[in-house]
Amino acid sequence: MSDATVTIIGAGVVGLAVAARLSKTFDRIFIIEKNKNFGQETSSRNSEVIHAGIYYPKDSLKALLCVKGRKLLYDYSKEYDVPFNMCGKIIAATNNEEISILEGIRLKAANNRVDDIRVIDQDEIHELEPNVKALKALYSPSTGIIDSHSFMKQLETNAIQNGVQIAYGAEVTEIKKTNTGYEIFLREADGSGYSFTSSNVINAAGLQSDKVAAMVGMNDKDLRISFCKGEYFRLNPPKNKRLSRLVYPVPNPNMEGIGIHVTIDMGGGVKLGPDVTWLDKNEYDYKVTASKQEAFYKSAKRFLPFLELDDLSPEMAGIRPKIQKKGGPEVDFYIQEESKRGFPGFINLIGIESPGLTASLAIGEYVEGMV
Ligand SMILES: Cc1cc2nc3c(=O)[nH]c(=O)nc-3n(C[C@H](O)[C@H](O)[C@H](O)COP(=O)(O)OP(=O)(O)OC[C@H]3O[C@@H](n4cnc5c(N)ncnc54)[C@H](O)[C@@H]3O)c2cc1C
Repeated sequence: MSDATVTIIGAGVVGLAVAARLSKTFDRIFIIEKNKNFGQETSSRNSEVIHAGIYYPKDSLKALLCVKGRKLLYDYSKEYDVPFNMCGKIIAATNNEEISILEGIRLKAANNRVDDIRVIDQDEIHELEPNVKALKALYSPSTGIIDSHSFMKQLETNAIQNGVQIAYGAEVTEIKKTNTGYEIFLREADGSGYSFTSSNVINAAGLQSDKVAAMVGMNDKDLRISFCKGEYFRLNPPKNKRLSRLVYPVPNPNMEGIGIHVTIDMGGGVKLGPDVTWLDKNEYDYKVTASKQEAFYKSAKRFLPFLELDDLSPEMAGIRPKIQKKGGPEVDFYIQEESKRGFPGFINLIGIESPGLTASLAIGEYVEGMV
């Protein structure tokens, strides 16, 4: 018998959600996380938006898991008192070309069964957000925000209460296929190493998920991750009080990002971002480029007329784990049990970029169906 039934590599929001879900059914689940605590990478460097599921191609995993995950996330947050706010979101069109794109977005949303979205005119925009300038807008009432740290803490608590064992500060360095599953080799913070066996492996390693798949022999070119950074600037007080909803521009058609938008957080802070910067190398570069301030200002000034350049200060950055190539078409989440490739019981989750936070609980359910 293997030491573990299931080993989950990575304690970001996805690994934790999978653990919380599987631990309702399975015993002997391990989570291995290289950092000293959960959610130290992409899961704590994002907009914390509960997306409605508007933009993604029909029947894609992104669309299906976002729409399902959003409902699960609101229910979960109510059940466990995780702070959230279903504040709603406005997609602001500032010229005729953008207005013509709005209808296409509304149809895409309807195809994804996001049916509460509607086009609103200037009067209604003014009523909802008096400080936003737009000719027309799409209004999504079921978009919201969540305290993602509290959410992950609660998932960790659920998992531990169900018997999951978590090894923090332990990095997976090698995985070998055995007759009954996999042998997983770890390196601990003090440099010492050891290995154990597991019948199933779930690769939820975020930015390193392609490397983890390659460790066991799945070194697929199409699944290589490119780091794509998104930077944020803070809207300094007191002007943060002028906005109470999420405000987005009309997105770029290739969906590399959904445009520099206004995000509010549970503490009442407001930030602008993220932009889209493909990194030349896959390095953890979380610097915020102060010289981008003017570009952020110009981009948001179109729909926030009250904005002045000095209202912004550098805030933070996150990195998207993209399997989409720079300039290439959008790519769906890759979530696959790999029996067909000769790796039974090995489940890869690769390219879990946005809306991965929103979709996390639905991803947990989806993965449970595969184990
Ligand atoms: C700028 C930005 C904005 C975003 N905004 C939103 C949003 O508003 N709403 C939304 O729904 N989604 C958003 N997302 C997407 C969301 O943040 C991610 O989809 C989600 O956090 C992915 O979680 P994860 O657990 O897969 O990855 P991660 O959080 O990266 O976790 C992976 C973990 O695996 C660990 N790991 C890696 N390799 C190893 C190894 N060899 N051994 C042990 N551990 C390892 C890492 O240390 C890490 O903790 C955004 C993303 C970005 C970058």
